[in-house]
Amino acid sequence: MIITDTHTHLYSEAFEEDRSDMIKRAIESNVTRFFVPAIDSTYTESMLQLEKDFPQHIFLMMGLHPTHVKIDYKKELEHVEQMLQSRKFYAVGEIGIDLYWDKTTLDIQIEAFRHQINLAKQYKLPIVIHCRESFDEIFHVLEQEKSEDLFGIFHCFTGTLKEAHKAISYNMKLGIGGVVTFKNGKIDQFINQIDLKHIVLETDAPYLAPKPYRGKRNESQYINKVLEKLSELYGISKEAIAKITTENSKQVFGI
Ligand SMILES: [Zn+2]
Repeated sequence: MIITDTHTHLYSEAFEEDRSDMIKRAIESNVTRFFVPAIDSTYTESMLQLEKDFPQHIFLMMGLHPTHVKIDYKKELEHVEQMLQSRKFYAVGEIGIDLYWDKTTLDIQIEAFRHQINLAKQYKLPIVIHCRESFDEIFHVLEQEKSEDLFGIFHCFTGTLKEAHKAISYNMKLGIGGVVTFKNGKIDQFINQIDLKHIVLETDAPYLAPKPYRGKRNESQYINKVLEKLSELYGISKEAIAKITTENSKQVFGI
């Protein structure tokens, strides 16, 4: 069984003490493909190091995270562009709009989001969307930017069934993680109405640990708990879900 974690911040400071062991633990529990989203330029070096350490397992993305769109965002976007020019990345991400942490930067968040969507189109890459309290704003941008060559993943999808269908209509897969195991996570109530061909698995480690680790540091191996829950909700084996969602990840990322 091969499990793909489509969203994991393995370079995070949270793993400073035991990063290699944590990654090895995940690999031993069948999580062998890690797609690593960017946040801002301060993490680029540690992302590249991670790829050096686990070349067969690590697939890097490049992008500017919406909560890191600040006064210097133009410089940050230049960095993203320079990196995309300089070598292979597998997606532009994570990008999007976050109105939970800061509403005052909405205008520049939209500008950075749109700019990076266009980079993705230019480099023929998928986008990985971060959406927090911002479905309307994200859909508004997608409606304007939609095209044959715009596709990707709605990371950590936590919307309604209607929003799920809408995201799918823009060529997006839904990234399902720990929230599906939460009592009040809501998506467990309808997710089995969405065809598995639209689903990919993720942890968002070190955040959003699934039950029974909720509130603790998340690790990529805990994606097995997400897999278990989906197996229960869809009524099919974990092996089958791992296979379909890994295929879906290959379709999105091209590897
Ligand atoms: Zn993330």
